[in-house]
Formats: sequence, structure tokens, C-alpha cells
Amino acid sequence: MLSNKENSYIKKEETFCSNTYHPLPVVLKKGKGVFVWDIHGKKYFDFLSSYSAVNQGHCNKRILNAFLKQSRKLTLTSRAFYNNELGNSLEYITSIFGYDKMLPMNSGAEAVEAALKICRKWGYEIKKVQRNKAKIIVCNGNFHGRTTTVISFSSSKESKENFGPLTLGFEIIEYNNTNELQRMFRKDKNIVGFLVEPIQGEGGVVVPDKNYLKKSKELCEKYNVLFIADEIQTGICRTGRLLACDHENVRPDIVILGKALSGGFYPVSGVLADASIMGVLKVGQHGSTFGGNPLGAVVAKESIKYAVENDLSKNARIMGDLFRNNLNKLKSKHKLIKKVRGKGLLNAIVLDCNENSKIPWELSLKMRDNGLLAKPTQGNKIRFAPPLIINKRQILKSIQLIDTSFSELKNENSN
Ligand SMILES: *Cc1c(COP(=O)(O)O)cnc(C)c1O
Repeated sequence: MLSNKENSYIKKEETFCSNTYHPLPVVLKKGKGVFVWDIHGKKYFDFLSSYSAVNQGHCNKRILNAFLKQSRKLTLTSRAFYNNELGNSLEYITSIFGYDKMLPMNSGAEAVEAALKICRKWGYEIKKVQRNKAKIIVCNGNFHGRTTTVISFSSSKESKENFGPLTLGFEIIEYNNTNELQRMFRKDKNIVGFLVEPIQGEGGVVVPDKNYLKKSKELCEKYNVLFIADEIQTGICRTGRLLACDHENVRPDIVILGKALSGGFYPVSGVLADASIMGVLKVGQHGSTFGGNPLGAVVAKESIKYAVENDLSKNARIMGDLFRNNLNKLKSKHKLIKKVRGKGLLNAIVLDCNENSKIPWELSLKMRDNGLLAKPTQGNKIRFAPPLIINKRQILKSIQLIDTSFSELKNENSN
């Protein structure tokens, strides 16, 4: 199926790169908008969007221009000096999200780390928790990144096995369960934070019950605990609102952004909070060589500006509804579709097979052959998350490709 040329690229990557991923066998060389092209010029819908990092579409022209313009002027100063872009960028971003301050970082996991550090420090210095006793509650099935501290509270065995000793001070409770949250808060006075994904993306696009976030936030307020929303995947219009927490009018104490804050160009992440919380970090207590660099600042500002000015939230809402409605219509035709779930353009099909089945992978290969790229997550779920600039015609076309792929898979398996 694959050409010699493709096989040679794949072999080279497998030989020289750490083998921590299992990529779908397709070798890409170009991207524009909702499409990517492989080395033979075959065109695909990108329904992964680099895990929601390219919400604004591949090689977005406006972000590209901002990137190029700044690249020719000044890229990195380190925060040993001031630069003429960082303040402007953060003034804009904080005004859009409605927070006093932002801590600029680079990758998502780094921003999560920073948020945890802020939360702990707030716990000791403002909440007055006893030294080294602070505890942060997280949820089963979470994904917050890959650093040693972050994997310490992962519920996935392969993410943490043989990486110990792990960081202490975290407690895992069931996702979508405010009773358990309240029980934890009641019994432990040392809890300083609740870290949660508004929808669990890597966990298989798990959408919690209505008002879960609202109730959790209320409990956090009642027990003087910081509500920390990891919006790295759900934020920046992906679910049909600027932040997924906006669906329930919840204003987190700390918001973590990453992925689409970069427009796919250049790693930029950030932690948003008000001065009363961010203020616990003083000179010398946190930092990053690249965090807050002028190139990243310009890219992040333009990425948010593009999303806001083009109302990508609204498009994600409308296109997401259209996509799920049409997928649901396929359910009667394809018994393999057990459930369709998601919000905005963060969606998944749960397949009627077990988590170790080969079927999800085979379906992904079929979709690839038909011109649509999507990957299984958590075994029997397939995530569908195209760039948010996708239009109606493209959604309907992608539904056709998915439909065809299910049919072909069924025919082959019955032969
Ligand atoms: C991707 C992701 C991260 C980690 O971001 P990296 O840039 O890969 O470090 C953290 N939290 C969530 C919810 C994510 O989806």
C-alpha cells in the first residue's frame, strides 16, 4: 500500500526518533486550512488538527505574516530585558479572557506545572496551609502532559510506570462526580486546588454532565480551593465557546492555555490568573528562557485575534452540531457506531468493539485511504477535531468519507 518513498521516510523516523508514538502510516509534507497533503500530493481532511493546536487552520496566513514579520526583527531576548511586544500581547490576551495577568510559557505541560506551583504557593501563603501539606485534587482519566510531576497523578499505568519516584501531594477522584469532590474537601483541610479538564480530550472526549463545572466551582469557592481549568485542548473556541468553561458561565481561578495559542506555528502556552493569585510568584521564583519571547508573544496575540475576529466559536458550534447530527444519522446504517459525543468541534465516535480491538485502527486506515485523517484514542474511540475554519460543504464531504469508510470496513469483514 505504501510506496517505497513513504516507507523510507517512515523507516528513517522510526530509526532515528525516540519511539514514543505510533503514527498512522501517512507522510505529510504540506498543509493549508483544513487540509494536509502527503508526499505524493494526495489531499486529506485533517480531523486531528495536531490535537487542536491548529484551530485556526494550517499555515494560517495572518499568523504566518505576523510570524515572518517578527522573525526578521527580533525573536528572543529572554526576560533579562524588556521587549516591545510582550506587554502588548499580554494586555490583549488578558483583556479577551478577562484576567489580570498571564504567565507566558512554551509547552502545555510546562504551563500545567507552573499552575500547580502557583496553586501550592497560594495554598501556603494565602490559604495558610501547613508547610509541605498542600494537596491538589485531579480526576481519573486525566491528561495534563508528560513531566514527572504531571505523570505523578496520571491514572494511566504506561504513562508513569518506571518513571518514579513520583511527586506527592495529589489525589485522584472520579471525573464528573461532585459528591466525591465534596467528600474530599470535607475531610481534608489541606486541599488547595482542583485541576480539571472541562472535557477530557485525551481521555476519549469525555463530556461531563451539565453543570458539573459549575457545581465544582461552587464547591471550590465554599472550601477556599482554587479551581484550575486545563483548557489546553478545549480552549480557544474548540468546543464552541472561547473557553469550554464559558458554557456554564464558570470563571476558573486559574486557566491554562496551550496548543491553539500557538496557531500551530511556535510553542506558546500560558497561565491566566488574577493578581491576587499570580502575585504569589516573585522575582526569581519561576522562569523560562523562551517564555515571553517577542516572537511567541506576537504569534499568541495573532492566534487569539484571528480566533476572536473570525468568531471561530460560532463556527465550531454550528459545524459541530451539523457534524454530530449527521454522524448520528449513520448510526442506524453502521452498527459499529455505538455512540457519538462531543461539543463544538471536539467530537468522538465510540465504536462497538472492545478497547484492544484492531477495528479502530483499521477504520483509521480506511479513512486515510478515503482522504480523512483521524486516530483512535483510548482504544475504541475515534476523535474528530478538524480546524475550526471548516465550512458546511467540507463537513458534509467529510461525513461522506466517514460513511464510505465504515461501509468498506463492513464489506471486507463480512467477506
Ligand atoms: C496536550 C495537552 C497537554 C500537554 O500539552 P503539551 O504541549 O503536549 O505539553 C496538557 N493538557 C491537556 C488537556 C492537553 O490536551
